[in-house]
Amino acid sequence: MKRTIEEIEGKIASGKATVLTVREVEELISSGREREVREADIVTTGTMGIMSGTYALLSFPIAKAGEYRRFTKASINGVPTSVGPCPNESLGIIDLMVFGTMECEHRSDYGGSFLFRDLVEGKEVSVEATSNDGRTVEKTLTIGEIPTAKLLSTRNCFRNYRAFVNPSEAEFKSIFSCQPFPPRFGGLSFSGCGHLNPLQNDPQLRYVGVGSKMLFNGAEGFVFSTGTRCSPKYPNLMTVADMKSMDPRLMGGFITGAGPECLASYAYPIPILDDATLKLVMTKDEDIPLSVGDIRDRHKIGQADYGQVWNGRDEVITEDKAPCVHCQVCAAKGVCPTFAIKVDETGPVIDRSRCVNCGACVRACEEGCFKGFLGDVRVKIEGVERTIPIVCRSSNREGALRIMEDLKRRVLDGSFKMTKKVAEIEP
Ligand code: SF4
Ligand code: SF4
Repeated sequence: MKRTIEEIEGKIASGKATVLTVREVEELISSGREREVREADIVTTGTMGIMSGTYALLSFPIAKAGEYRRFTKASINGVPTSVGPCPNESLGIIDLMVFGTMECEHRSDYGGSFLFRDLVEGKEVSVEATSNDGRTVEKTLTIGEIPTAKLLSTRNCFRNYRAFVNPSEAEFKSIFSCQPFPPRFGGLSFSGCGHLNPLQNDPQLRYVGVGSKMLFNGAEGFVFSTGTRCSPKYPNLMTVADMKSMDPRLMGGFITGAGPECLASYAYPIPILDDATLKLVMTKDEDIPLSVGDIRDRHKIGQADYGQVWNGRDEVITEDKAPCVHCQVCAAKGVCPTFAIKVDETGPVIDRSRCVNCGACVRACEEGCFKGFLGDVRVKIEGVERTIPIVCRSSNREGALRIMEDLKRRVLDGSFKMTKKVAEIEP
């Protein structure tokens, strides 16, 4: 089978293109309708999860021109920022870079990633800036008053990732789980949406390159490079998109055992030009390796696969108020990394716009108010076969599905025009 991008573009324009999500491909295969997959012109793929390399570039007026020479220090909602690179001398304009992983100076349950979502939700934020002569300016504003608000990435959308366990005798706090890792292989956390992931479906970066258009947190964005520590095994991307078009439900903050982390989501359309591409989009989770590392130094100690963490597991966590005994302090609420749980007189309620289905609440509430089968992973570590319970999922398939379905709709209605890359990027 051979197709060209131009043929696919023509089919989209005439309303005759077949666009499937990679989840629909999976469903067709499992119901024995593999032949229908061959009709697909485009398969949309997606991922959502913790992506540390996310940062914002904001530029806005903060004072009258000539009032200050330049600003040297600034924070927003208490989150420290880097001022510059442009000094904007005497213009009264400030340029700021804000890292998603930067913790607020006044509280440990807030950081850059939470600020990004607050901005995208249209909330007011408080800026405090100090000038080179020591004077301080305070200003409250919303994203509507920030002419430039871009989100960028240093290494996002990576092709799946890894799982971690803690072999030591003591708990270990890390960015790879919302709770400290229990000792003696007591729990496993993992990242990666498995076969749904964009780069899992284009591992050699045949289609993704400089100028490729993607959805980044629901906004149209572009790839401009491969990311830091990129390798053929773990390719990842530098991307950019306008925060003003983002969907807050597809981004935000996630509190880990070692500070705030940043949630991000991506969707990418794969054109099915030949059999090799078709074969890749038909890859199953069980055929995708998932290495298991020692969380203390991240070296590999075991090998699993994505089928072991996603097949037969509940992708969506739900609540059941009935068993709630109204504890004085709700343990589930205490572990929720996105502050998605509220408890009222009737029991717990999950805010679906914030929940990322990490599963921490399922294990935290001993009364069984949270439903979702996370399961165990069987893995051989240093010659010993171990069964380790999954205690935290750092990736959210429900969000990945939402963004890839949105992309499918936009491709079909013509509002998302596919772009050809303008330069290759090496994995
Ligand atoms: S949801 Fe569970 S942990 Fe929270 S108050 Fe109810 S019973 Fe207690
Ligand atoms: S699964 Fe539970 S703990 Fe995790 S984000 Fe959703 S409500 Fe919070």
